[in-house]
Amino acid sequence: MSSSLSSYPTSRSSPAAGDSTAEALPIVIVGGGLAGLAAAAVLSQHRLPVTLFESRPRLGGRASSVVDASTEMLIDTCQHVAMGCCTSFSKFCEQLGISHFFRVEDQLNFVAPEGTIVPFAASRLPAPLHLTNALLRLPYLTMNDKWQLARGIRRLVKLSERDASDLSFADWLKQNRQSAHIVDRFWNVVLVSALSESSERISTKYARQVIVEAFLRNRHGWEVHLPVRPLTEIYAAIVTELESRGVTVCVQAGVERLETVGDRLSEVVLRDGSRSTCADGVLAVSFDRVADLLPAQLRDHPELQCVQNLEPSPISSVHLWFDRPICDLPHAVIVDRFSQWLFNRTAIHASGDAPLAAVQTDEFATSHYYQVVISASRNVLEIDSDEAIARVLADLQAIWPAAKSARLLRSRLMTDHRAVFSPLPGIDRHRPRQQSPIANLQLAGDWTQTGWPATMESAVRSGFLAAENILRRRGIDAESHVQADLPTARLGKWFLGL
Ligand SMILES: Cc1cc2nc3c(=O)[nH]c(=O)nc-3n(C[C@H](O)[C@H](O)[C@H](O)COP(=O)(O)OP(=O)(O)OC[C@H]3O[C@@H](n4cnc5c(N)ncnc54)[C@H](O)[C@@H]3O)c2cc1C
Repeated sequence: MSSSLSSYPTSRSSPAAGDSTAEALPIVIVGGGLAGLAAAAVLSQHRLPVTLFESRPRLGGRASSVVDASTEMLIDTCQHVAMGCCTSFSKFCEQLGISHFFRVEDQLNFVAPEGTIVPFAASRLPAPLHLTNALLRLPYLTMNDKWQLARGIRRLVKLSERDASDLSFADWLKQNRQSAHIVDRFWNVVLVSALSESSERISTKYARQVIVEAFLRNRHGWEVHLPVRPLTEIYAAIVTELESRGVTVCVQAGVERLETVGDRLSEVVLRDGSRSTCADGVLAVSFDRVADLLPAQLRDHPELQCVQNLEPSPISSVHLWFDRPICDLPHAVIVDRFSQWLFNRTAIHASGDAPLAAVQTDEFATSHYYQVVISASRNVLEIDSDEAIARVLADLQAIWPAAKSARLLRSRLMTDHRAVFSPLPGIDRHRPRQQSPIANLQLAGDWTQTGWPATMESAVRSGFLAAENILRRRGIDAESHVQADLPTARLGKWFLGL
């Protein structure tokens, strides 16, 4: 990818002599994750000069790839999926011409606790009834579970946002008499992977949002969009597009601080001491980095101090290379076990245009590569990596007998300790708006006020919103890039009380 990236210029140019207006200066984006890239996409569409600084050698932030040293294979640090309800993320992909890097899965495969594979797909019934048959067919839920679930979903939908926001989902489950059985086999399966938290650390508002947006509002909301190539390859295509629009993308360009003159952001100072004067800035780093980078006068600002109240949650992925296939499903949702989702990366890549990776060593050229994802993985952090891998392997062997005879060529555990912020009850009070108290400084990142939990959708929305604030400040009248929710069918409107 680096060949298509501008190498980081060693000295930053000052505003050209004769540039009398501040607006001729670049808009500087700090952070090349999805939030920063989304802001760059919108601003460059309006032909505004943009320079993006990313401290790492690669783009993508928490959603990115690394080269695995043993296999020499480019692998995503963790499998990322979007869903049909992620409308702004889809728009972002469309605008940058990368939609073809994703395949849409309209069937999930649930692995029952006793190992049976249960396909899960929509019927022809309109939303919100489209998944009713699939739910009724889940053999590991009793009739009583299904009745409790139907009652629970109905009550959850009726809850107002105000009542839901400060209530923990664990309390809601108790209040609504959802049994431990249905919690372990339905609610946790859906919500822990969607929100990467346990029910006592989830705001009922966000639990409700997942159920409504993904499963009830529209028949496509729940469909899973899977990248068919490593994410870093997708960013290469994004960079090509952004550079063709005049964006300067600088990697290995860590920003040390933002400087102000009076109440205006004036320049960013890079770690190597060079400076970049700017007209506007977008600070698009993760929530735990923002305090160190804010101009001094904002550090104690009440609107921004609250960011320190956000708490992180870990996500782990176990990467496994076998000498032969262990299952032929592209992915599977594993119910009520240590392992949560399996992704058959070899099969998923095979569905793309190119083979898995050109750089893999001979030993691994014919290997079969799988990823098992465990969200809210504090249980993984409590044990050593060999034990975590052994537990995942035991799960796979119990489900797919072929995993017993297959030779495990390599395994690797990767945990991002600060993968997402926990969607705790009352969390939105701690998420600032994109417009910072300094008029020409925007904030972006999945943690800012987007109405979404920490996801690629939230990151993209934040970048769009930050860029739109800049357009508005410049008097540029543009349609909002943040997309509306998927349309709601008439029956859905009645059911959701819309
Ligand atoms: C393991 C894992 C699994 C996940 N799975 C999913 C999933 O399946 N679906 C989903 O929707 N979401 C998932 N997420 C969440 C998703 O990755 C994030 O919500 C999203 O990528 C956040 O993007 P961002 O741009 O807000 O922040 P980040 O990705 O954190 O980007 C911030 C960028 O700023 C850069 N930066 C920091 N400091 C500086 C500095 N001083 N100078 C310059 N640059 C700097 C960082 O290097 C980084 O590139 C997952 C996250 C993790 C970690």
